[in-house]
Amino acid sequence: MRPEMHKNFEYGSDSVIEQERDNVRKAIECKQKPDFYPYWRENRYKRAFSENQHGKCGYCESKVLAAYYGDIEHYAPKSEVHELVSPGCESFGLSNVTDRKTRQISNIGYWWLAYDWSNYLLACNRCNSAWKRNLFPIIESERKVRPDSNIPETPLLLNPFDDDPIPHLNYNDFGQIIGTTEQGRSTIETCGLDRESLRNAREEKARRMYGLLREFLDTNNSLEKQNIIRIIIDMGKENYAHSGMIRSMLYHEFKLTWRNLEEYLEAAE
Ligand SMILES: [Zn+2]
Repeated sequence: MRPEMHKNFEYGSDSVIEQERDNVRKAIECKQKPDFYPYWRENRYKRAFSENQHGKCGYCESKVLAAYYGDIEHYAPKSEVHELVSPGCESFGLSNVTDRKTRQISNIGYWWLAYDWSNYLLACNRCNSAWKRNLFPIIESERKVRPDSNIPETPLLLNPFDDDPIPHLNYNDFGQIIGTTEQGRSTIETCGLDRESLRNAREEKARRMYGLLREFLDTNNSLEKQNIIRIIIDMGKENYAHSGMIRSMLYHEFKLTWRNLEEYLEAAE
């Protein structure tokens, strides 16, 4: 759920924002590169999203603030739109991205969403600046017109506030992420979610989770089952890094939902 955005919590006043949007609109009409005033970089906005997202990147579920300053990311890019030509990979032992190529397909972005809270999320610097950048894949395979042409588009990139990622993403016990739908696969590719550094960060938790699930299936002792569920519920707390991975594994590998676990405990108590 997005942070509550009250009118008077927005950028000063509606008229300030309308003026900024107008400046951008005029620049685009005059075929000039628009200047966006970066209101979204103010601390109070980042704080609101950080609290709401438990300090985690909306794409990779890493705890952002322990390692980076964190960015307010525009889900739909504001200035231009690119498409992926070659996915590239992370350099071994480094976080640099190599052999990744994109191509600009519109020099106009979703400019009218630049100051729109519904287009924001907290993201880590790696997902935002190194991988996703100005990519915004859509189901309609070829983007023939610029984004403000009023042609309906269906994003392939999962939005952490609007889409439940669980049906789209699964993980193996090495922490490798697997897209189970076109949206899942596109999101992984767009944000580099299967990069080695992330697989390493997820591996320990993924292995533990698979071990617990196997123990759960192997035992008929209800007390042991309850203990395992308590451990899993603790591992999947929303404020922990990669808690979505825990829930995805449960769903794909064992056809269980988080609610099923809670109900099991409630019935036992
Ligand atoms: Zn990230």
